[in-house]
Amino acid sequence: MDDCLFCKIVRGEVPAEVVHTTERTVAFRDINAQAPTHVLVVPRQHFANAAELAAGDPQASAELVTTAAAVAVAEGHGEDYRLVFNTGAGAGQTVFHTHLHVLAGRDLGWPPG
Ligand code: 5GP
Repeated sequence: MDDCLFCKIVRGEVPAEVVHTTERTVAFRDINAQAPTHVLVVPRQHFANAAELAAGDPQASAELVTTAAAVAVAEGHGEDYRLVFNTGAGAGQTVFHTHLHVLAGRDLGWPPG
């Protein structure tokens, strides 16, 4: 996708602080962190949301979660972290390239806003 922001980050065309990479995923810090650790894990291949990724590439879908867990451990928060997929504009999705938020390092209230 030529005009997709996260495709550009995956290709290295837009700078980002990359913290972890795997064959199918790239993890980088959110530009507007909502917690001491706020990392986005994205598939290298473009899918619009989590369900489309799961249907189109189940292995990458699983790798998103294992990468997120590895990031949480590497950041020192392997016991307490939150994973979030916002799906649809009404739920807060603003970038339509699947991304898993990894949030940790503070008390995370429930229900979320
Ligand atoms: P969403 O709202 O779609 O679930 O999450 C999109 C996330 O992407 C937001 O948390 C936002 O701060 C982050 N974001 C938007 N633009 C950029 C950018 O250019 N670089 C990085 N690293 N994160 C971004």
